[in-house]
Amino acid sequence: MKKRNTILLLGIISIIILITAQVIIIRGVWQQKDEMLWLRYKTLSQEAAGSLRGQRTMGFDTVRYLLNWYSDSVVKEIPRIKKDIQKLPAVRNEILKSFSKVLNDEQDFSAYLSTYFENQGFEKDFNHRIEITNLELIGEDTLNIYQSEFSRNRRPPGREPMTTSLKGIKSSIMVNWFRLDDNYYSLSFEYYIDFSDKRRMILKETAASLGMSLFSIVVVVVIFLITYRNLMEEKRLSNLKTDFINNMTHELKTPLSTITVAGKTLEMEQIRTNQEKILETAKLIGKQSIHLNQLINMILEISMWERTQFQLDKKSIGIDEIMNDIVDSFRSGCGNCAALTEKYNFNGAKVDLDLVYFTTMINNLLSNAVKYSDKEPAINIEGLAENNNICIKIADNGIGISKTDQKHIFDKFYRASSGNIHKYKGLGLGLYYVKRIAEAHGGDVTVSSKPGKGSIFTITIPY
Ligand code: ADP
Repeated sequence: MKKRNTILLLGIISIIILITAQVIIIRGVWQQKDEMLWLRYKTLSQEAAGSLRGQRTMGFDTVRYLLNWYSDSVVKEIPRIKKDIQKLPAVRNEILKSFSKVLNDEQDFSAYLSTYFENQGFEKDFNHRIEITNLELIGEDTLNIYQSEFSRNRRPPGREPMTTSLKGIKSSIMVNWFRLDDNYYSLSFEYYIDFSDKRRMILKETAASLGMSLFSIVVVVVIFLITYRNLMEEKRLSNLKTDFINNMTHELKTPLSTITVAGKTLEMEQIRTNQEKILETAKLIGKQSIHLNQLINMILEISMWERTQFQLDKKSIGIDEIMNDIVDSFRSGCGNCAALTEKYNFNGAKVDLDLVYFTTMINNLLSNAVKYSDKEPAINIEGLAENNNICIKIADNGIGISKTDQKHIFDKFYRASSGNIHKYKGLGLGLYYVKRIAEAHGGDVTVSSKPGKGSIFTITIPY
C-alpha cells in the first residue's frame, strides 16, 4: 500500500513538474513572439511612415481641408469665447472633440499603412488611435485649446516622442508624431496602432510548439495512467491469488481433517466392534471424500478452461422441466435448508443446453443464496421466455453485496472482503464459473443487490 502510494505520489509530482516546465517554456516562447511581433510591426509601420514622408500631409489631406474650414468658422468667435470664462472649458472640450473626430474619421493614413503591411505580406487589419498632444486656434487672437501633460513637460525631440522601452511592448505601437500647421490652427498629435487579433496571430506562429507540448503532456499522462492501472491490476490479481490459496487451504483442510479423525476413530478397539459406528464413520469419510473430490475437480476444470476452449455438450431441453428437477434435487440435497418458491412462465420453450454445466450454474447460485444469508434463507426463483431469451431470476433475502463488490464478484478468486470472510467458506470461483457457463451458452449473468436487503442474480440465455 505504502509502495503504491509512493509511486502514485512520485508520478503526480513528475507530471506537475513536467506541466510547470512546459508552461514556463510556452510562456517564454509566447513572450518572445509577442516582442518580435511588436518589433516587426513597429519597424514596418515606421518604414511605411518613412515612405509617405515625401507627400506633404501623409494621408491627412481631407483632414487638413476640413479642419481649416472648421477653424475658420471658430476663430471669428475667439474674442467672444474668451470673454465667457465660465463656458471656456466646455467650449475647449467641444472643439477638441470635433478635431479628434475629423482626425479619426477622415484620415487616409491607416489605409496607406494597411496596404503597405499587406504588400509586405503581413497582417493588414489593425485598430488605430490618435492622441492630440497640442492644439491652438490662430486668428487675430490665439486660443489655446489643449496641451497634453506629456507635451507640456517633456517636448519630444524630433519625431519620436515616446520611448520604445519594454513597457511599450505588448501595448500599442506609436507609428508617428504629426504636426499640422494651417491658416487657423496649429495641431500636433500621435498616431498609434494595435492589433486586437494579436493573440490569434501569436497563436498561429506558436501553434506547432504549443501542440507538441500539449501532445507530450497528454502522452506522458496517458502512459502514467496505463502503467499505474496495470500495476494496480497486477497487485489486485496477486492479492486475489494469495487469498485463493489461503481459502483453498482452509477449504481442503476441513474434509481432510475430518477424514483423518474418522480414520483414527476406526482404528479404535471399541469402535471396531460397533457395526453402526463403523458405518456412520465410513459414510462420513465417503461424504468428505466426495466434497474433496468436488473441490479438486472444480479447480482442475477451471485451470483446464484457462488453457482450452470451453466444450459444451448441448441438447435441446424443455427448460420448465429441467428447472423443476434442479430445484427439487437442490431442496432435498440441502435438507430443506431454505424456503424455495418457484414461478415459471417459459411457455414450453426448449433451449440448447449442456445439462451438467447448466445444473452446476443454477446450483452455484442457489447454494450462494443459502450460504450468504444471516437469517432463515428464502429464495424466490422466477423464469420467463421473452424476445428469444430465457431469463432466470434467483432472488434471496441474504446479506446483499456492496456496489464495489458487485463490480468484481464474477472475477476469478474474488471474494467480498467486507465482513468476516471465514464466516462464509469459499474459493471465489463459484460466480466466475456461473459467468463462464452463461457466456459459453451465448448468454450472460447480472446482479442487482443492496447490502442487508438481499441479491437478485439474473441469467439470460438465447434460445
Ligand atoms: P465464494 O462463494 O466461493 O466466495 P463466489 O464466486 O461464489 O465465491 O462468490 C463471490 C463473492 O460474491 C462471495 O465471496 C460473496 O461475497 C459474494 N456473493 C455471491 N453470492 C452472493 C449472495 N447470494 N449474497 C451475497 N453475497 C454473495
